[in-house]
Amino acid sequence: MAERLIVIGGDAAGMAAASQARRRSPDDLKIVAFERGRFTSYSACGIPYWISGLVPQRDQLIARDPATFRDRFAIDVRLRHEVTRIDLDRREVIARDLTGGDEVRERFDTLVYATGAHPVRPAWARSDVLGVFGVQTLEDGAALRDWLDGDTRPRQAVVVGGGYIGVEMAEALIQRGLEVTLVEKAQQPMSTVDPDMAELVNDAMRGVGVRIRTGLAVTGLQERDGRVSAVLTSDGPIPADLVVLGLGVRPNVELAEAAGLPVGPSGALRVDRRMRVPGADDVWAAGDCVECLHRVSGMPVHIPLGTHANKQGRVAGINIGGGYATFPGVIGTAVIKVCDLEVGRTGLREQDAAAAGFEFVSVITESTNRAGYFPGSRPMTVKLIAERPTGRLLGAQIVGWSEAAKRIDALAVALWNGMTVDDMTALDLGYAPPYSPVWDPVLIAARKAVDALGR
Ligand SMILES: Cc1cc2nc3c(=O)[nH]c(=O)nc-3n(C[C@H](O)[C@H](O)[C@H](O)COP(=O)(O)OP(=O)(O)OC[C@H]3O[C@@H](n4cnc5c(N)ncnc54)[C@H](O)[C@@H]3O)c2cc1C
Repeated sequence: MAERLIVIGGDAAGMAAASQARRRSPDDLKIVAFERGRFTSYSACGIPYWISGLVPQRDQLIARDPATFRDRFAIDVRLRHEVTRIDLDRREVIARDLTGGDEVRERFDTLVYATGAHPVRPAWARSDVLGVFGVQTLEDGAALRDWLDGDTRPRQAVVVGGGYIGVEMAEALIQRGLEVTLVEKAQQPMSTVDPDMAELVNDAMRGVGVRIRTGLAVTGLQERDGRVSAVLTSDGPIPADLVVLGLGVRPNVELAEAAGLPVGPSGALRVDRRMRVPGADDVWAAGDCVECLHRVSGMPVHIPLGTHANKQGRVAGINIGGGYATFPGVIGTAVIKVCDLEVGRTGLREQDAAAAGFEFVSVITESTNRAGYFPGSRPMTVKLIAERPTGRLLGAQIVGWSEAAKRIDALAVALWNGMTVDDMTALDLGYAPPYSPVWDPVLIAARKAVDALGR
């Protein structure tokens, strides 16, 4: 009988695994992907830009539809099919057809678990009140766009949660012409960077008109005629005819746990370097549902990002197809923009470095993205965190205008390769006045870190 590969979850990680496995496997490998939603292989990362209108059409976010998978890859994608159970002993998955209601059973030889993550939705965010939206899926995005474009014509939005999705959504709604308040329970939004760098981001958000309320917990919703009219907070109500939730995600591991697959300390599924789930034959996992190694702290972490999901799915697929590939871990590199302001980060923040037991110095430098005399020259702030006394780079953050965000990539490569700030001062980075001052902001920061280490 032909071998059978079943994939649970038809987005980035699952379909990357399925496509790679198909490329490397005999033609008679049968591949079935169960996806409970209405779409496969789409860019959730693009949703904020579709909401803002920068990306005009929903379908521009869809990389491959089921027909493409069927015709080009001979992969049978079953949309609107939710897997409800994995039976590892009988080697079958049980799924419910959400359209017809039927139960479907499929035998597998190899299983890929790629169910992603659940958006956090607290009890106060009642689904029976109209005007409250998550932005996790294309369906969520469509519902929000309908609300924005429909008869309601909302004017006052509250974004709850100041992580990167909350910040991107605040920007998108400002661009749609709404009044936007961003509410964050912690003392600062953008907690993925240190507070001193986050303050620059907050200034930029305020500069484009976002009201920022920090240290404030949302406790409930006020409604009028079944529609949201305000969010209730520990400091009183904030009027809102649209509420967007950006409260983070948690790994979607319930089915795996019920089947006896191991969950790690981060709450996500454990996998080895080849994306194999330990203790189970031919079961693989990838994407937002798994944890991985942080190469700087040495700790298992759950960092749910599309960049990792795609790479991990590819690694799983290569291995399933008989090749050899590993996912070596992450260093926490991420970029985001808030209107024209760009933010990049990699490695450890000060608090992470302290928690991991490092002794370190940190420095902040102000420079410019271009030669000071060159038209369009704008400030760029670079923060470096380096181990004392070795000088090894532990983390970096950049906030500035054009050419700021992707500069983090040079620092990420340095960090990945264990470079010291001493080594970095001599890096042969490109220079011409339209692209940097003669001393690139990265080099200036490295020099200051060397000074701080007392060399
Ligand atoms: C608004 C937004 C912006 C983002 N921006 C960025 C960015 O700029 N950069 C970046 O790197 N990342 C970004 N991300 C994160 C990125 O989209 C995710 O990390 C990525 O989609 C994870 O891929 P995945 O395949 O692991 O999970 P998902 O994309 O969540 O796919 C999992 C799939 O499994 C399906 N599923 C779950 N359970 C079942 C079941 N029982 N049966 C059948 N199907 C099931 C789900 O319906 C889902 O389609 C963003 C995410 C969002 C929401």
